[in-house]
Amino acid sequence: MAEVLVLVDHVDGEIKKTTYELLTAAKALGSPSAVVVGGAGAADKLADGLTEHGADKIYAAETDSTDFLAPEVAVLESLIGSAAGVLISASANGKEVAGRLAVRTGSGLLSDVVGVTGDGVQHSIFGGAYTAEAKANTEHPVITVRPGAIDIEASAGAGARESVEVPAASGRQATVTGREPIQGGSRPELTEATVIVSGGRGVGSAEDFTVVEGLADSLGAAVGASRAAVDSGYYPPQFQVGQTGKSVSPQLYIALGISGAIQHRAGMQTSKTIVAVNKDEEAPIFEVADFGIVGDLFKVAPQLQDEVTKRKG
Ligand SMILES: Cc1cc2nc3c(=O)[nH]c(=O)nc-3n(C[C@H](O)[C@H](O)[C@H](O)COP(=O)(O)OP(=O)(O)OC[C@H]3O[C@@H](n4cnc5c(N)ncnc54)[C@H](O)[C@@H]3O)c2cc1C
Repeated sequence: MAEVLVLVDHVDGEIKKTTYELLTAAKALGSPSAVVVGGAGAADKLADGLTEHGADKIYAAETDSTDFLAPEVAVLESLIGSAAGVLISASANGKEVAGRLAVRTGSGLLSDVVGVTGDGVQHSIFGGAYTAEAKANTEHPVITVRPGAIDIEASAGAGARESVEVPAASGRQATVTGREPIQGGSRPELTEATVIVSGGRGVGSAEDFTVVEGLADSLGAAVGASRAAVDSGYYPPQFQVGQTGKSVSPQLYIALGISGAIQHRAGMQTSKTIVAVNKDEEAPIFEVADFGIVGDLFKVAPQLQDEVTKRKG
């Protein structure tokens, strides 16, 4: 069976959930091979989880390079020759790796897909109004998969280990000399979260985003924001959901004071269950919501939070 490369997304010795989604998707194309690029011993720490989720092979590419995403691109480039395809998470970093890899290897790039079959891939387009099917006309296509779009199926793979060299960069004009991650706080990351509570312009101010955060924390959820909320300075840009923000597909998406413009829907419409709270019963968000509450978010969200807290207690 043809090998399918899966770039493992990992942080601090933990595999990100999106990697398991990629391994599940890879099985539709062939035999999944997980590619771990990281410091010494990184692949050893992750091997059990990868094997349990279907990795037949685990490539360990050890490096202490600080070059931003360059080792990932170089390693995948060196392995792509016999692969039926490469699956990468459609995260900000994943999209960067995928673009560079596709250009270097002359591969077709299928981006932000929500389904993978032996015959091609599916995209959710025009704000989720259509599902388009696509196929690359090249060998070993590079495919980025929207986080949350694939239901994880655990089935053990062979987990055979192999060390690979990280090819040295050549002809560089500049080198990244250091990196420091931003401290993200205790909430889950947007693209990893099972539950997201997002606030829009209806929240009205940065201070009042505590209402969104309060409900999110009661649910163990990530916080998101519409572009209008971000542009108004209510919440930082890295939390924006939508066409020009992050694409998310959580199990539960709660929209507070968000009208549901097509550019917002483009980033959240594939969520499994959508709950909208808006005081305007005509708001387009209700067209995609599974449950809608016509009301003032400042009355509804605290009540929801109280109920959740009571039921947890
Ligand atoms: C090229 C392009 C890219 C874009 N990309 C994005 C993107 O990535 N993400 C994104 O979100 N947008 C994006 N937009 C902007 C998008 O078109 C909308 O302007 C934006 O999504 C509106 O945000 P909103 O729903 O928070 O605000 P509004 O449309 O102003 O809606 C606010 C809603 O809050 C409700 N409300 C007000 N007060 C309350 C209350 N107390 N209780 C309950 N409800 C209340 C109102 O009824 C209203 O429906 C993009 C636009 C363009 C042109």
